[in-house]
Amino acid sequence: MLLEARDITKAFGSFKAVDAASVTLQQGDVLGLIGPNGAGKSTFFNCLTGDLALTAGKVFLEGHDITNRPPEARARLGLARTFQVPQTFEGMTVLENVMIGAFLRTSHRAEAETKARAVLARVGMERLADAPARSLGTPGRKRLEIARALATEPRILLLDEAMAGLTQREVQLAIDLVRDIHRSGITLVIVEHIMEVIMSLASRVMVFHQGREIAHGTPQEVTSNPAVIAAYLGT
Ligand code: ADP
Ligand code: MG
Repeated sequence: MLLEARDITKAFGSFKAVDAASVTLQQGDVLGLIGPNGAGKSTFFNCLTGDLALTAGKVFLEGHDITNRPPEARARLGLARTFQVPQTFEGMTVLENVMIGAFLRTSHRAEAETKARAVLARVGMERLADAPARSLGTPGRKRLEIARALATEPRILLLDEAMAGLTQREVQLAIDLVRDIHRSGITLVIVEHIMEVIMSLASRVMVFHQGREIAHGTPQEVTSNPAVIAAYLGT
């Protein structure tokens, strides 16, 4: 097993944003994580990456307990993520933003730049390398998030609404990119509201509602599950 999260709970005061949620990932999985706004998806990601300390539960990477490891240590072990709200360094160029990811693996500037340029080529942003990050629109920022995560050379990539705000055409391009990332051997967890993305990429899906998993199965199974439909309708 590549990653296991066991009974993760994250409380903010008395409110449990994530309530005893578990997940297992095998090498090569593409797991979709869906659920209505506020279901706890981003909080769950933050618990896996160490961006938030857990209230209860444990996280294991290849059987090693990483529950108390800080985010950077988890990144070194191959766990990368994108943020729902892109964490772009506005005053830097696109290339420099990606180099921040590459510096996880090397302290040499020239090597970080070579790696970052290779990643930019891979995501189709090489011509934007020297553009100021602040000049990017939403699609560019979303793609830059993916590029920075790839530059850390992850084994597992958590994508948090990486396609929100994109046009239909841009979504198609992003699906192609994610498929390419998966083919390169990276295990994926995809949080996405666009069902077409889940349907075309995920081999299985877990559904969150009010911090809990309410369904788990193939994309077809979960989208026809009455409890899932009720959760989305707010009933
Ligand atoms: P999702 O990503 O599924 O839309 P989130 O994980 O962002 O949901 O949020 C789950 C719930 O936890 C929401 O009700 C949200 O308001 C709450 N929440 C998230 N982060 C915090 C925080 N830092 N402090 C208090 N409440 C939070
Ligand atoms: Mg979210």
